[in-house]
Amino acid sequence: MTFEEKKQRRNVNSVPNIPVFDNFFLPILKFHQDGKEHTTEEIKGYIANFYKLTSAEESALIPSGNRTKIHNRVEWTMSYLKKAKLLRSPRRSAYIITERGIRTIEENPNGITRKILKKFQEFREFQRIKDSDISTTQLPIDISTFEKQEEKKYEKIEKIPNLEKVLERALNAPKIPRTKTVTTEIAIRDPNVRRITILRAEGKCQMCGRKVFLIEAHIVALGGGFAGEDSLDNTAGLCDVCHRRLDSGLCTKRAVKMLLTKAAKPITKDDLQRWASNPC
Ligand SMILES: [Zn+2]
Repeated sequence: MTFEEKKQRRNVNSVPNIPVFDNFFLPILKFHQDGKEHTTEEIKGYIANFYKLTSAEESALIPSGNRTKIHNRVEWTMSYLKKAKLLRSPRRSAYIITERGIRTIEENPNGITRKILKKFQEFREFQRIKDSDISTTQLPIDISTFEKQEEKKYEKIEKIPNLEKVLERALNAPKIPRTKTVTTEIAIRDPNVRRITILRAEGKCQMCGRKVFLIEAHIVALGGGFAGEDSLDNTAGLCDVCHRRLDSGLCTKRAVKMLLTKAAKPITKDDLQRWASNPC
């Protein structure tokens, strides 16, 4: 699929005028008032005609692209009306009105909402199961939630860059940035531990051996739920690259163990004398 085709498909998807399925309850029930059996295809045609949908609206696809929005919404409506026992399904994709359905139309000539459906215990039961566990019961979920989920999946798969929107937002962004006040807790590292750690490395990264600028690294991390201590047996002088690798958990266990062994080595008077002449 080319970019242009993808864009076109998106445009079809964004056809805005299809009513949400809650609106379909009453017209669909009324369509069944004749007491005859009607198929999903017939109901779809009836709804398209009832709302005077354009052909673009009728052929608008849900984000995954595998069915039309109108088909999807009609199916959700049918499922809700069936759960509320206003319609029954004598066979797959075919529906017929119930006594309760006829009564409900008479009692609610101005419209049927989900609130009205909730008056029926069977529907409440269905909603309760639906809300508690969608994945195991495989029951339909709210159409808007469903379509949003589909949309997300679609975005992920297709990854269409909508840079025009990003550019528009970038151009309209406030030039003086907004500010916010944040409070963070940081560990105050001991400067003496740091000094000895760097001296102990004697100018070479204790991981890769490169002679570069060294940073004090904590072998077992200090914060974020880690139990590392700010002490000489938990520090190493590392180059920036090795420090990042260590912090990102990319170092092998063997390398970490090697650092801990180096850190555990007692510091002698000779060491101190040698380091005293080091300007670092
Ligand atoms: Zn290094």
